[in-house]
Amino acid sequence: MQNKNLFLILALLLCVSFLSAQIKVQFTDSDEYYLLETFEHKKLNYFKLADFNAIVKGQMKEILLDDRLHFYVFKKEISFCIESSFAHVASYNNKTGLLEDEYYNFYYPISYIKGEYSLPEHFLLDVFPQIFPNSVYYEDGFLLLNQRNNSSIKVIVLDPGHGGKDPGAEGANGLQEKHIVLNIAKKLKVRIEEELDVRVLLTREDDSFVSLKDRTLFANANNADLFISIHTNAAENKKAHGIEVYYLSEAKNDESRAAQALENAVVIEFEGEEALQEYSQADYVISDLIQSAQLIESINLAYKFQNNLVLETEASDRGVKSANFFVLRGAFMPSILVELGFISNFEEGKKLNKENYQDNLVESMFYGIKSFKLHYDRNNSLE
Ligand SMILES: [Zn+2]
Repeated sequence: MQNKNLFLILALLLCVSFLSAQIKVQFTDSDEYYLLETFEHKKLNYFKLADFNAIVKGQMKEILLDDRLHFYVFKKEISFCIESSFAHVASYNNKTGLLEDEYYNFYYPISYIKGEYSLPEHFLLDVFPQIFPNSVYYEDGFLLLNQRNNSSIKVIVLDPGHGGKDPGAEGANGLQEKHIVLNIAKKLKVRIEEELDVRVLLTREDDSFVSLKDRTLFANANNADLFISIHTNAAENKKAHGIEVYYLSEAKNDESRAAQALENAVVIEFEGEEALQEYSQADYVISDLIQSAQLIESINLAYKFQNNLVLETEASDRGVKSANFFVLRGAFMPSILVELGFISNFEEGKKLNKENYQDNLVESMFYGIKSFKLHYDRNNSLE
C-alpha cells in the first residue's frame, strides 16, 4: 500500500515535470528570456515550431504538394520533410552571391501532433546551433540567440536605373532616364542620411553600366534592409503621364507588362543571351518562401511611396502595381521599383529635369521611407 502511494506520488511528480518542461530562449541583447513549452511524445520531449516561431519571428510555410514545412529564420531557409528527420538548409552566400545547400539529420522526425508541427527538443538544442554556428548557442539551460530577424532598417540600397551604354528611356530635347534617376538617387541619399540613422548605398555613383544581377547582389552582400530601384517611364503614347510604384509579382495588365518589358529589355540589349538564361536559373531566382516573407513589406512600402509621391507632386496617380522585374528578383529584402513619371511626355519630361521638381520627388520618397521605417522598426522590436 505504501509502495503504491509512493509510486503514485512519483508518477504525479513526473507528470508535473513533463507538463512544465520548458526551454529558456534568450536574445543576447536583452536580459529577459522566453519560456518555450515542451511536451512528451513517444518518450521524447517535443516543442511546437509555431511557439518557437512566435519568439524568433521567422516565417513558416507548409507546402502540401511536396510534404514539406519551410521555416525561414535568420536569413536561412530550413525545409523539413514531414515525418522525416532530415532537414535541408538553404542560405545565401555573401561572397559568391549564390544559394548554398546543407543537410542535417536530427534522428527523430518532425511530427504533426494534435494539429501542430512539432520537433524534438534535440533539434533546437543540438542541431539549431550547428545551423547557425556564429549566432546560436545552448549554454547552462539557455538557448542563446545572437541575432534577430530584421530588427530595424539600418541599410538602404538605392538603385538608379540604367547607366553607361544603357541610357534607359529617352525623351524630348535629348532627355535620358539614366541622368535624371542618378541625380534624384544622390539627392535622396543625402536627405535620408541627414535625418535618419540609416546608411544609404547607391548601386552606381556615376554614369556607369551595372548589370541587373549585380545590383541586387550588391544589396544582398551589403545586408541591405530595403532595395529601391528608381526609374522614369516612357510610352509610345506621348500623352501617358503619372507616377506608379511596383512590387515583384506577375504583371496583371498590359500597362504593367509594358513597364516590365521596358525595364527588362536592358538584359537582351546590353547583357546578352547568356545573361538572359542566367536570370531564369534556380540559383538566381530566390525561393518563393523568401519572396513571400518580403512580399507583404514590399507592398506596404510601395503604398507608402505611391501615396506620398502623388500627394506631394500632384502628378497623376497610376497606382501600385506588380510586375516581374529582373532587377527585383534576386533581392533578399523588401524591394520596390518606382517609375517617377514619363519622360516621353513633353510636359512631364520637362518637369522631371528640373531641380525643384526633383526635390519634391525626393522629399516625398523620403517621407515614404521614414513612415515605412517607423512601422517596420516598431513591428520588429521586442514588446
Ligand atoms: Zn528604367
